[in-house]
Amino acid sequence: MAGFRRVANSQKCVRAGGRHNDLEDVGRDLSHHTFFEMLGNWAFGGEYFKEEACRMAWELLTQVYGIPEDRLWVSYFGGDPKAGLDPDLESRDIWLSLGVCASHVLSFGPQENFWEMGNTGPCGPCTEIHYDLAGRGGAPQLVELWNLVFIQHNREADGSLQPLPQRHVDTGMGLERLVAVLQGTHSTYDTDLFSPLLDAIQQGCGVSPYLGRVGAADEGRTDMAYRVVADHIRTLSVCIADGVCPGMSGAPLVLRRILRRAVRFSTEVLRAPPGFLGSLVPVVVETLGDAYPELRKHSAQIVNLVSEDEAAFLASLQRGRHIIDQTLRRLGPSDLFPAEVAWSLSLSGNLGLPLDLVELMLEEKGVQLDSAGLARLAQEETQHRSRQAEPAQERGLQLNVHALGELQRRGVPPTDDSPKYSYSLRPSGGYEFGTCEAQVLQLYTEDGTAVASVGKGQRCGLLLDKTNFYAEQGGQASDRGYLVRVGQEDVLFPVPRAQVCGGFILHEAVAPEGLKVGDQVQLHVDEAWRLGCMEKHTATHLLNWALRQTLGPGTEQQGSHLNPERLRFDVATQAPLTPEQLRAVEGTVQEAVGQDEAVYMEEVALARTAHVPGLRFLDEVYPDPVRVVSVGVPVAEALDLASQAALQTSVELCCGTHLLRTGAVGDLVIVGERQLSRGTTRLLAVTGEQAQQAREVGQALAQEVGAAAERLSRGSQDVVEAQRLSKDMGRLTDAVDTAVMPQWQRRELQATLKVLQRRANTAIRKLETGQAAQKTQELLRRHSEGPLIVDTVSTESLSVLVKVVRQLCERAPRTSVLLLSPQPLGHVLCACQVAQGTTPAFTAEAWALAVCSHMGGKAWGSQVVAQGTGTTADLEAALRTARAYALNQL
Ligand code: ATP
Ligand code: MG
Repeated sequence: MAGFRRVANSQKCVRAGGRHNDLEDVGRDLSHHTFFEMLGNWAFGGEYFKEEACRMAWELLTQVYGIPEDRLWVSYFGGDPKAGLDPDLESRDIWLSLGVCASHVLSFGPQENFWEMGNTGPCGPCTEIHYDLAGRGGAPQLVELWNLVFIQHNREADGSLQPLPQRHVDTGMGLERLVAVLQGTHSTYDTDLFSPLLDAIQQGCGVSPYLGRVGAADEGRTDMAYRVVADHIRTLSVCIADGVCPGMSGAPLVLRRILRRAVRFSTEVLRAPPGFLGSLVPVVVETLGDAYPELRKHSAQIVNLVSEDEAAFLASLQRGRHIIDQTLRRLGPSDLFPAEVAWSLSLSGNLGLPLDLVELMLEEKGVQLDSAGLARLAQEETQHRSRQAEPAQERGLQLNVHALGELQRRGVPPTDDSPKYSYSLRPSGGYEFGTCEAQVLQLYTEDGTAVASVGKGQRCGLLLDKTNFYAEQGGQASDRGYLVRVGQEDVLFPVPRAQVCGGFILHEAVAPEGLKVGDQVQLHVDEAWRLGCMEKHTATHLLNWALRQTLGPGTEQQGSHLNPERLRFDVATQAPLTPEQLRAVEGTVQEAVGQDEAVYMEEVALARTAHVPGLRFLDEVYPDPVRVVSVGVPVAEALDLASQAALQTSVELCCGTHLLRTGAVGDLVIVGERQLSRGTTRLLAVTGEQAQQAREVGQALAQEVGAAAERLSRGSQDVVEAQRLSKDMGRLTDAVDTAVMPQWQRRELQATLKVLQRRANTAIRKLETGQAAQKTQELLRRHSEGPLIVDTVSTESLSVLVKVVRQLCERAPRTSVLLLSPQPLGHVLCACQVAQGTTPAFTAEAWALAVCSHMGGKAWGSQVVAQGTGTTADLEAALRTARAYALNQL
């Protein structure tokens, strides 16, 4: 696409977060949507500029569409003295020369007529065309129709504006608003893009018809609810079809907010029945499916996701109301509603209710929220997140727009990186990588300034006429290596990475010696690293193919990334893979690896790849010619429309560097699997020796689990031994959770361990109860009936001691009991229970505390039963303390 100079397109736009956020406005007025289609035309590199852009826009609206000229108004940039920007009189004069009446040409400041997308980057003045809905010569009622942006500045990191080396045009016209004008309606919602939805809402909810009212006139906000629901279901459908699902952060979180806003308006205002939102999806598919076939393709999944999320939200609402009611019962009349509870109800907590909704629910009950506490919790969460976030990926050196513009102006051709593909397989089986000699075309300092030379120790960017380095792209990590100056081969310049910037490949280097433009250099890639990438990339293709074999031909890749350590593969799935499926996938890959098939790579015309059955196109733009990588079948054969090869083996469009035979992958083990968002599973895999090791770790753990199971089934008569076994089970569970091992085996062992753990705990309880019964018998024999038993018992387990106390009190309900059990090194366990009907001041907790603190320890429990520990050399004194305390209370 870099070659395009004149473009017209239609973009899907969602404005529900970030810099352009219309979410809260949608529904309130008659012209904003969260999802809309933006029609645009573009000129790149000065192909045309203001004059032609304005003329074409005016011609299209007034002559092609026949919109009366006197209904149109235009605005232009009135300048910004603070930023040193002059008014855009050029645009004004163009409009006047096109015949726009002077009273319809207005100027505005940077807020309205200076367009910027981000904090830095290309930007410029804009001129807008508005349509007058009233059109009776009175006060105009304007709605913006089309925005023409003239990109001519760059906002630098320091906030200043610099002229761009090349100027561009970027215009946007809202399709919905255009349709409203052409269909003669005052509102985008009254066009045929929305009326089928409004009708379906009326039928589905059985409410009075949509009347298009806004503001105070819209009693009960019924019309607003109509608009919100119709708008939001379109956004949800389009986003889900594009692979964004409601989730917990980023774009998925925005989508979740949209869904919940739709649910609230549909259930609370329109009294929609449960499952209603999902029923609107077919109407969206009907209106937009011709333009966006992906909607048709994914319609069932969209209905499912929307319905599931709607049900989850309604359930959360109900539980939320219940929790609020329960909490209110505990609160005093002037208490604030506790922040912790509100937090646990909120999006960031457990139930997923938006905080403003929680506040609204509280308001209905007439309680105030502890906002200060809530702010504190929110801040803690932010801090926690920032600590947990993955370490920010260093972006590395980049060529900025000025550098790129300069290179283009000088006519520097894109870097020739074809030598990255020149490697071969020696008869011995090893790979031979060619070196590459190149010339230094340009050097850049760390801040991106072009320089003619760099000095000793400087980190710099290096542009060469050609390279054999693979620059990061297509999910394959960048090569690393070094270069030497020709004639000075003993000084190595390390090159930690290479990146693509606008067709140029920028090498990052640290210069141990000076280097200057014009120098000849020789490049060496780190061969072990590169080979690791090649293994992982070919393994990624085999994995992709094996997933389709196992899960079905419709299985789609969502993304992937690899480096020599591991590969990551995201796949669209309805549910997590079962252990059987994981094993089957690994088996299929192993088979292909075992056959040591040839890997063919060839560049072919893009057109030849169309219509090949089974060949996938990811959602990206492919170069022409494009590289094809096929396993086991020569490319020409794989692309033969009659061959079906792409259905039977791995054939992909890919620019990566691959093995020449599959055998070197060695083995593949999927060591991790998690749900990224609903509908996407992320697999983590290792290959070769690492895969073998993972299998060995898995085997060893399986054996340990087997041995533990056997120990358990033998059955122990000893509580301590049983407890040790239970602890071992816990340790094994931790090991299985975190080990690098086959995921299918992890899941199986986790399931086994869960059962074993439960059985071990049951066994312990049984043994303890038996032991306690025996000791209870002994104590009953030693003590005649009375108000108090204070004694020692020999056991190593605190829970046995507690059981003895319990059983004693059951047998002698009018007796209060405190037992101590001496352990090695002077440690003492303590448990007690106070008989029913003693004085209220005599509590078990206080009793245990009195005795244990006497022994320098601690105690815990309730009024009736308590336990504790301490350390003493004089057990008799502790027993005396216990008796004295109790007698004093009784
Ligand atoms: P407005 O002031 O009406 O919000 P805008 O200045 O945000 O518009 P631009 O960013 O210039 O609009 O977008 C270009 C065109 O896209 C607008 O002229 C309008 O036709 C359309 N558009 C923008 N936002 C929306 C929206 N939320 N819903 C529908 N169409 C929109
Ligand atoms: Mg706007």
